[in-house]
Amino acid sequence: EKCQPDATTNVVCGFCSTGCGLNIHLKDGKAVGLTPSTDYPVNLGMACPKGWEALTPLEADDRATTPMIRKQRGGELEPVSWESAMSSFCSNFKNIQQEHGDESVAFISTGQIVTEEMAFLGALAKFGMGIRHGDGNTRQCMATSVVAYKQSFGFDAPPYTYQDFEESDVIVLIGSNLCIAHPIMWQRIERNKHNPEIIVVDPRKTETAVAATQHFPILPKSDLYFLYGLARVLIENGWVDEQWIAQHTNEYEAFCSHVQTFTAEQVEQQSGITAEQMLKLAETIHRGERVSFWWTMGVNQSHEGVRTAQAIINLALMTGNIGRPGTGANSITGQCNAMGSRLFSNTTNLLGGHDFANSEHRAKVAKILEIDEDRIPRELGMAYDQIVEGIHAGKIKGLWVLATNGSHSWIHQERYKEAMEKLDYLVVQDMYSTTETAQQADLILPAAGWAEKDGVFINSERRIGLVKKVAEAPAEALSDFNIFKLISHYWGCAEMFKKWSTPEATFKLLAELSQDQPCDFSGVTGYRMVDDLGGVQWPCKPSDVAGLASDNQRRLFTYNLFYHTDSKAKFIFAEPTEVAEPTSKEYPFVLLTGRGTSAQWHTETRTKKSAVLRKLYPASIYIEIHPDDAERLAITPNSLIKVKSRRATIEVTASVTPSVFPGQLFMPMHYAKANQLTQASFDPYSRQPSYKFCAVEIVV
Ligand code: SF4
Repeated sequence: EKCQPDATTNVVCGFCSTGCGLNIHLKDGKAVGLTPSTDYPVNLGMACPKGWEALTPLEADDRATTPMIRKQRGGELEPVSWESAMSSFCSNFKNIQQEHGDESVAFISTGQIVTEEMAFLGALAKFGMGIRHGDGNTRQCMATSVVAYKQSFGFDAPPYTYQDFEESDVIVLIGSNLCIAHPIMWQRIERNKHNPEIIVVDPRKTETAVAATQHFPILPKSDLYFLYGLARVLIENGWVDEQWIAQHTNEYEAFCSHVQTFTAEQVEQQSGITAEQMLKLAETIHRGERVSFWWTMGVNQSHEGVRTAQAIINLALMTGNIGRPGTGANSITGQCNAMGSRLFSNTTNLLGGHDFANSEHRAKVAKILEIDEDRIPRELGMAYDQIVEGIHAGKIKGLWVLATNGSHSWIHQERYKEAMEKLDYLVVQDMYSTTETAQQADLILPAAGWAEKDGVFINSERRIGLVKKVAEAPAEALSDFNIFKLISHYWGCAEMFKKWSTPEATFKLLAELSQDQPCDFSGVTGYRMVDDLGGVQWPCKPSDVAGLASDNQRRLFTYNLFYHTDSKAKFIFAEPTEVAEPTSKEYPFVLLTGRGTSAQWHTETRTKKSAVLRKLYPASIYIEIHPDDAERLAITPNSLIKVKSRRATIEVTASVTPSVFPGQLFMPMHYAKANQLTQASFDPYSRQPSYKFCAVEIVV
């Protein structure tokens, strides 16, 4: 009776980039339960286990409820007032900056907070506090796609709408275990009435590969050989759209010459895929009228992820599969607001997808924000890995980490943890005081979580969706937005942010900043419009608004106009490179990492808090090994085994399964142990960590 709801409102889910709508059932304005929204255009009444359990982590016992300070290293964290916390925060950062310069401090942001907050953080840190370096955990998931799109299309622009899953007749999934990583997107494929060919390119026999009509189990990190070999077969058979290519692209001839060298023999040797298999795949793509290509972390988290993503983009371009329903070169993002971060974190771009080095862009941003243009840096700051190494080198001495848990999630975890210990001052702003990173902090700032504040997320298909305050943050925890306001006040730069009075005022400021950019959403007048329309995809200029009520599923490039100055897309390619840590006699196994189940999320900071979700995945930390390898090494199912890399040795339960091929092991990334093993190598263009390949051995 007490919990009988008296109202319902729609809120976008705060876990993954799908951006499902959840009906939050309210009693006296506060959430008492939820069900998936049936009329939200993303999920159409569906939710995965994380969505169903989204309210549970808000109630966890280990919520950070008050600011906490560690007075000395190794000492206990002690509760303090916000005033003391702000005094510590400002005096420590200011002292470090005065002594060592603005280059000596940095922030690490996240794809988990709302867009208004990440923009406020980026502006406060860089324009207000003069912090030179900032990056986000989106470097771990989406940086590769950002660079790939920018170079190929002229702007970071995933072109699709989820409707494309239902309209393709050939769906090519590369490095994507959609069934569990993006289960609602998989359900959109299940709704496809065209009996589509579903092609999965993945070294593992994943849940998605099992459900596919064709699976190509390429050898780990042979992607470029495979994709260039496929391009060669398409060209040799004349299965390309020459006219479209000539009109709308550059560098095609050079690309043709490049892929000619990827002979069938070489491709088979490198990828394990035979000429017959390749011909069958090329024929399937050729026969398709609406072919869509999708990729996610299997591509992005690679030592040559950018060129791999571009090899996929090239396939869509050469077959003319872009700008039409059911087509596209489509990167699927990871976190709920990775797309917001890509445009507004003020790290990899100046706010609104602008360029720090472009004086017109700087002048535009300064004018809209009413700040002195000199406050805007003229170049990018350090990337995430450079910040970590900058700490080791003694260059970075103060760090502010928000809503991310690098001491668990960063590649070669121990090196990250050691870096945190070397800092003069570490601030962690988070919902929980118990994350591995928070446990190393000198100061913890307690933050409100999803649904305890207002703002917008931008999902994988560029849809701006609304998050609303439907629950109270515990005790003294504040929304990140209000923490930034507090910091600006204590720092003495509040005047600079007078236009950032509320989340919605900030949203309108961001809409203004987006004007005349490819991501222009200046036609979105405010939260009410986002709510009424079931989210709004960018671009949405004022002239686009009239059509939205009848068509709220929009894709890019319908007029074949790309964002380079000549409006053409570009074929980009390169020679494949060797992985940083190949297997050897001593370390003969390849370790693959990835999502374990749809019930787990990242470092489990939230999903571990739900008893329901915990029941949906194995209780013990496991590693998958092929039955032939298990037999050879006398490993029995569910026995404890030791796995060793050049960085650590861990003990885990053996899951003996043919889902991995001989010579390969797979471990879910959610468990902290996985990144004790991983090797810190990076894509040279995106600086994204290469989580998908390191050499290990099994110690028997
Ligand atoms: Fe939330 Fe993603 Fe699950 Fe949808 S698929 S309910 S957005 S976690």
